[in-house]
Amino acid sequence: MILDIVEIGDPVLRRKAHKITQIDRDIRLLADDMLETLRDSGGVGLAAPQVGESIRMIVVEYPEDDTVEDSPKKTYKVINPEIIWRSEETVEGSEGCLSIPGYVGTVVRNESIKVKGLSVFGRPLKLNLSGWTARIFQHEIDHLEGICYIDRATAIYQPSEEKEGEQPAEEAQDNSISETKAPAEKPAAEGSSPSEAPEKPEA
Ligand SMILES: [Zn+2]
Repeated sequence: MILDIVEIGDPVLRRKAHKITQIDRDIRLLADDMLETLRDSGGVGLAAPQVGESIRMIVVEYPEDDTVEDSPKKTYKVINPEIIWRSEETVEGSEGCLSIPGYVGTVVRNESIKVKGLSVFGRPLKLNLSGWTARIFQHEIDHLEGICYIDRATAIYQPSEEKEGEQPAEEAQDNSISETKAPAEKPAAEGSSPSEAPEKPEA
């Protein structure tokens, strides 16, 4: 079932989400619905608060090798995810959010992270993540703390409509935008609207 995605302004996005203590069929159903919702939206990550559930669960789906077209996608459903290690190295990249349609921002994230959590069957998970996948996880786990990427962004802008799927480097609409370095090689992380970034939009 495709769920409604709540948008910025809804207090659930600003709440610290509850730890999941009982992993049951309802949780697994919610995870499936979140994944279906994510696929429908064209995004790459979704946190439970974005569908109005203030609990600690995220789903992420992203190509295993994002340099290859039609690379198989890797799907993650993680309960109570926790970042247990962050690389010192940070990278700047562009992110969108399914809960903040029409905008993209420049955000500095750790290049690599280690995440622990539980599978939807309660089994312990430990993930070593880097690059774009690490960025998506940091974005989604932030949602569980009530943090949105706009809180961390060094610049926020509206992607130009003419250049579908690309970052607006030259077409900036004002000075604050043109000063930002738009990393043109990557799509927005989570959630720009499908018309603006049809391939891999937002988280
Ligand atoms: Zn988001």
